[in-house]
Amino acid sequence: MSSEFVDLHCHSTASDGTLAPRDVVRLAKKSNLTALALTDHDTVAGCADAADEARKIGVDFLCGIEISAEYPHPGTMHILGYGVDPDSPQLKNLTETLIAGRDNRNPRIVAKLNEMGVAVTMKEWEDEAKGVVLGRPHLAAVLVRKGYVSSIKQAFDKYIGQGAPAYFDNERLTPKQAIERISAARGLAVLAHPIQLRTSNDAQLEQTVKNLADLGLAGIETIHSDHDASWVEKCTRIAEKFNLLKTGGSDFHGSNKPNIELGVANKRRVPRELFDSLTQRLQSARG
Ligand code: AMP
Ligand code: ZN
Ligand code: FE
Ligand code: FE
Repeated sequence: MSSEFVDLHCHSTASDGTLAPRDVVRLAKKSNLTALALTDHDTVAGCADAADEARKIGVDFLCGIEISAEYPHPGTMHILGYGVDPDSPQLKNLTETLIAGRDNRNPRIVAKLNEMGVAVTMKEWEDEAKGVVLGRPHLAAVLVRKGYVSSIKQAFDKYIGQGAPAYFDNERLTPKQAIERISAARGLAVLAHPIQLRTSNDAQLEQTVKNLADLGLAGIETIHSDHDASWVEKCTRIAEKFNLLKTGGSDFHGSNKPNIELGVANKRRVPRELFDSLTQRLQSARG
């Protein structure tokens, strides 16, 4: 029996990854993955190139997006949208909303850093980002290059991470809005890395997932770089209990997250059947 592996969660230079969309697909092929979903934050700008490259070199490809939803500190709720139609007006409208939220937040971060004596400009951040999504990892890379910190991690700890002095929250969609808007763009909504919700116990996690499922959530990410064996098992059990799809991916960001390799999530690989169930569900949803 042949075992095939995939990666359903990764980022390119269209958001805060360091490899261009085509290069992520080439790396997938080189890593013997047979399917890939690109899930950049707040944009599908990398999907056309990635899909084209995937078709050329023989990798199955699915366009995705990752959205941050409103959720109480210290947790974070990220929702993946799989199979969204990049050309639909609904998707275009959604990404414009999300990027406007960033454009509102980002100058406040820079102003606070300047106030703290850190000489950095929006222009430097824009140049680092290469695309429309200006993420904090890009800013962190500028701070490393200018010698204010010695690593991306240190930039977050010292300046721009949650709880640090130059951290500002941006306006987010509610979970309900995020799920509705992914569905309106013909995608399936999947809860990313449930561990990051930081729920205080399994009952609370289960209740949160159930509430999302009632709002139209289609699946949860069971395999992820932040999930150890017990989290994979827990999420698998919850997915099965609520009849949700299981997905998995590394959350690869290139050298912005140097410990994460494409196709590998906490030493685990993602079986092909997770991709097949996802695409089957998308097909049946489309009739
Ligand atoms: P943004 O979307 O601009 O708010 O930035 C979110 C990105 O920053 C995601 O890729 C996160 O994984 C990354 N990030 C958030 N906190 C940290 C941290 N403490 N260290 C490294 N990366 C982080
Ligand atoms: Zn990211
Ligand atoms: Fe995420
Ligand atoms: Fe991600």
